[in-house]
Amino acid sequence: MRYQPVIGLEVHVQLLTDTKIFCGCSTTFGAEPNSHTCPVCLGMPGALPVLNKKVVEFAIKAGLSTNCSITPRSIFARKNYFYPDLPKGYQISQFEDPICQWGWLDIKIEGQDEPKRIHITRIHMEEDAGKLVHGELSGPGDGSGVDLNRACTPLLEVVSEPDIRSSDEAVSYLKQLHQIVTWLGICDGNMEEGSFRCDANVSVMPVGSDTFGTRAEIKNVNSFKFVKQAIDYEIQRQIDLIEDGGTIVQETRLFDPNSGTTRSMRSKEEAHDYRYFPDPDLVPLVISEEWVESTRKGLPELPEQRQQRFMTDLGLPLYDAEVLTASRAQADYFEAGVAAGGNAKAVGNWIMGEITRSLNDSGASIEACPVTPAQLAELLKLIDNGTISGKIAKTVFEGMFRTGKDAAAIVEEQGLVQVSDSSAIEGIIDEIMAANAGQVEEYRGGKEKVFGFFVGQVMRASKGKANPSVVNELLLNKLKG
Ligand code: ADP
Ligand code: MG
Ligand code: ZN
Repeated sequence: MRYQPVIGLEVHVQLLTDTKIFCGCSTTFGAEPNSHTCPVCLGMPGALPVLNKKVVEFAIKAGLSTNCSITPRSIFARKNYFYPDLPKGYQISQFEDPICQWGWLDIKIEGQDEPKRIHITRIHMEEDAGKLVHGELSGPGDGSGVDLNRACTPLLEVVSEPDIRSSDEAVSYLKQLHQIVTWLGICDGNMEEGSFRCDANVSVMPVGSDTFGTRAEIKNVNSFKFVKQAIDYEIQRQIDLIEDGGTIVQETRLFDPNSGTTRSMRSKEEAHDYRYFPDPDLVPLVISEEWVESTRKGLPELPEQRQQRFMTDLGLPLYDAEVLTASRAQADYFEAGVAAGGNAKAVGNWIMGEITRSLNDSGASIEACPVTPAQLAELLKLIDNGTISGKIAKTVFEGMFRTGKDAAAIVEEQGLVQVSDSSAIEGIIDEIMAANAGQVEEYRGGKEKVFGFFVGQVMRASKGKANPSVVNELLLNKLKG
């Protein structure tokens, strides 16, 4: 029997607001435990939550960018459960009438021309819980403590339909969603710190069946690689279990990155009954059409559109357009370089080549690139007008990256101006031909491969500064004799 995997993802997106979702406390990461707290996020009886408008704005942006409808009147609900990091005994979330519904993303799948549409069921707003700290407390013993700095941090939960059919599709969907929320500037996208994390629901059914199998939910997977591993492991585990005559139970499982396996955390029987009900402390959230429209107008050009424009307006090939729109900062850098007069294909090549390499080595982000887009465009001009060769340009770039100086200054300082003057180059060629009479004879005897040897010698003698096309032309003439 062959099996068809079915996957639906629930993604938690931590929002980049300065303050928490229902109080004015700071959301800054890494502060002294419990220093960013107040009666509201500590869950004191009688303290009243007040919704942060920025969270709503970010949710609308996310919804519009994923083709969702914005719910005109949405409500907050209490999700009741007990845990020491949840002082109120409930999490404020949305259940019925979430802020965004019925969206979709078209994902690209390797080896397939047509994109595949993954539907988004809903996006809702909620607060995060606090954090338990184990064995790191000062004082005697090594008990556990509760840090409520993270309590009440705003999250969006993006729930997909079970439209995904493989771990590769899951990763492709996640990457696209990740690109959108970081592009919008509503999430820092840091998966290691948990700013973008995902629960994967996985089931299998016989190929051709129209009834989904029972699913397992794998909690909190925090890298693209782990998502793929966790899903692949889970698919195989379920198939093996069925083949052995077993049955899948609905349960929550945990992924262990060390072993690459998943293990049971709790079964459906033990699962929570959250007893959702509308939160009486928060009024229904009414979003006017004007608000939605003004937010729509304020949206940046999204990665897909920008990619398209780079291809049609600037003539980039698909691959370049895709790589250059990997982040908004990189796309901005590229466009600034073109605006400063750089040739689009050349600016793109430099970003994908030298710039990316140097940034990786130095650990800097492109926003902090020591070479500005305008400086890159100037460097390209020096190549185009023959002042330096393409090869020397790499040396010049290194100097620019290291010192932040302009290309012209580095060329001047290091005496890197390209030599195109034929008489100077002829002088070098004559010397080299005289010193290598044997090879000259070989060439004239029909062994044309030796030509490369002469080019190499001339370039070396000129310390790479001789203009390669002048060298080629003069060499050819002289060698022919
Ligand atoms: P819950 O609230 O218990 O998490 P939902 O119905 O909201 O359940 O579904 C959660 C996620 O599980 C969604 O992303 C959905 O697409 C996915 N899902 C539902 N049924 C299946 C299934 N049979 N196989 C795989 N994923 C599923
Ligand atoms: Mg769930
Ligand atoms: Zn607070």
